[in-house]
Amino acid sequence: MAELLFFSGTMDCGKSTLALQMDHNHKARGRRGVLFTSHDRAGASMVSSRLGLQVPAVEVFPELDFWVELTLRQTMGARIDYLICDEAQFYTTEQIDQLARVVDEMDIDVFSFGITSDFRTRLFPASQRLIELADRVQVLQVEALCWCGRRATHNARTVDDVMVVEGDQMVVGDVEQSADQDAAPVDVPVRRGESEQGTTATGSTGRQSGVGYETLCRRHHMRRQTSRTSPSLYSNEVPLPFEQRANDGSVHLQGAGPGTA
Ligand SMILES: [Zn+2]
Repeated sequence: MAELLFFSGTMDCGKSTLALQMDHNHKARGRRGVLFTSHDRAGASMVSSRLGLQVPAVEVFPELDFWVELTLRQTMGARIDYLICDEAQFYTTEQIDQLARVVDEMDIDVFSFGITSDFRTRLFPASQRLIELADRVQVLQVEALCWCGRRATHNARTVDDVMVVEGDQMVVGDVEQSADQDAAPVDVPVRRGESEQGTTATGSTGRQSGVGYETLCRRHHMRRQTSRTSPSLYSNEVPLPFEQRANDGSVHLQGAGPGTA
């Protein structure tokens, strides 16, 4: 029986690498699949991993209807056993519902991959819908790290190196508007890819310059401390200011070691 699976994680945790590995494994056993992605770092219509692999994929625009798309493909004779859906956080919630229906009524496995929450720690709507509908949610094992060495569980957005917690859920929000308006300029996803890697992102209007992303542990996300603004480099000897505040004079170092989080 087909299943809807959601593999979730932060940025940099190897989702796309796993997506491509999964595609490879199923192909090797003679199964036929279709890859989908949205705003991949490599540009339109490509699933790419940071390790350098790139495979062509179908770009998921907001108007794409998975049910219609797959009905068409099957009508034209395609055999489809599974779907790989990368960057699923950028899909619409309607598209997630369509995917669930594809699983149940077409008996096609759907392996979806995505970031759960945005730079404000809020769930992406599509990721929320996946958590609600998926047969299984799996948090990826390859974990990104915070600058302090702890497991990174949150995504931070920076503007000119200063962490921000307000703004549009996606920098590509701006970009997507323009994509809707003028038929998807090809350079748009590349911009987002750059922003994910923490360099520079500019929206199509130029209003989003200096935007970058960084993965942090929850503690440092809450304190708004990125690698650029941290008071000191990670050290076991130097407690962070938060610990020094301990009211009874006892200094708690529990936050200072990577193994204790
Ligand atoms: Zn940290």
